[in-house]
Amino acid sequence: MQTEKLYYEDAYIREFEAEVISCSRLTDGKDGTVFAIELDRTAFYPEGGGQTADTGYMCIDGNDRVRILDTREKEGRILHYADYPIEPGTKVEGLIDWDRRFDHMQQHSGEHIVSGMICKRFICDNIGFHMGSDTVIIDYNADVDRVSLNEIEAEANRYIWEAHESRIFFPDKEELDKLHYRSKKEIAGDVRITEFPGADICACCGTHVKNSAEVGLVKFISLQHIGKGTRIGLLSGKRALDFLSMNFEQNSEVAKAMAASLDKTASVYLKQKEELKEAKFRASEAEEKYLKYEAEKYRDKGNVLVFEDGLTADGVRKYCVILGETAGGRCAVFSRDKDAGFKYAVIYPGHDIREFIKTMNSALSGRGGGKDGFAQGSVQAEEGQIREFFSSVLA
Ligand SMILES: [Zn+2]
Repeated sequence: MQTEKLYYEDAYIREFEAEVISCSRLTDGKDGTVFAIELDRTAFYPEGGGQTADTGYMCIDGNDRVRILDTREKEGRILHYADYPIEPGTKVEGLIDWDRRFDHMQQHSGEHIVSGMICKRFICDNIGFHMGSDTVIIDYNADVDRVSLNEIEAEANRYIWEAHESRIFFPDKEELDKLHYRSKKEIAGDVRITEFPGADICACCGTHVKNSAEVGLVKFISLQHIGKGTRIGLLSGKRALDFLSMNFEQNSEVAKAMAASLDKTASVYLKQKEELKEAKFRASEAEEKYLKYEAEKYRDKGNVLVFEDGLTADGVRKYCVILGETAGGRCAVFSRDKDAGFKYAVIYPGHDIREFIKTMNSALSGRGGGKDGFAQGSVQAEEGQIREFFSSVLA
């Protein structure tokens, strides 16, 4: 027996009475969704057409509540996945998680309005629709550009605020042949048409808002070119508001930290980025000057071991190269790390130091290496151990 689909007649039914027809244990049940309950009638929308399933409760005698975790349609039968069994013949009251359903209705209806507009402008089809828990993804077989998308967003919001009544109807074959409508797939039997007059006519079995005004707002949040098509991220209604609120919060934090106004955070950031780049360049020049000055103390000293704290890995490398040129022997620079151990660089121009570095890494719990007379890495050892290793090597 096919379940009577109350959500087809009225998408706003949140509570309904029904009788349990069957209840069976699911063999592939997981996470507590172990029973499939079938009713004679239901307002629970099963997953389908890109719209996610309803969840909610079934109440027995206004008391015991059985959680409905998922709803699926199999060969015209609607199966409610529950965490507890209910005897066939039991009268139940179904309670839909309305916040979740209304969110789906907003996302779905928003998608109709923008898809109608995009497909009309680009003479294309909507070839994919996925409603995730945070984003709605729509694929079109056309190259949709950013400027057009901005225009469509403005047009769709204008349409929403004009408060157009939506219409659901089942045209007969003759009527249907004359009708120009979007269709996501070939449909057998009665075709259910959803219309947002002036924006979209589409064959669809989902749940929609009665009036475009209930969508509230649409916001495109991503645009991605995939092959010859375009993938668009869309948020409608409360999700769009939540997304914009989150962005406002983030931008407010950034604006406060930068002492910038909300509409200037990007330009202030780019200016500061440029300033930081210049400051880094000046600091690097000053560091090099200082390192050259320090290196002079070791002129022509041959083998040298130097400890210099506060250097970056690049600073260690730079100092080592300068020392190599100044002292003329095998030069090693060690700089203390924030956490533990030391960064190092060793240079011995014209010599193969791979064997030496291997021995040093092994003696000082180190890692790293190199070639052509230069090596870089880190060791987990104390300054005393490092000095001791180098003096033993020299001895
Ligand atoms: Zn629809």
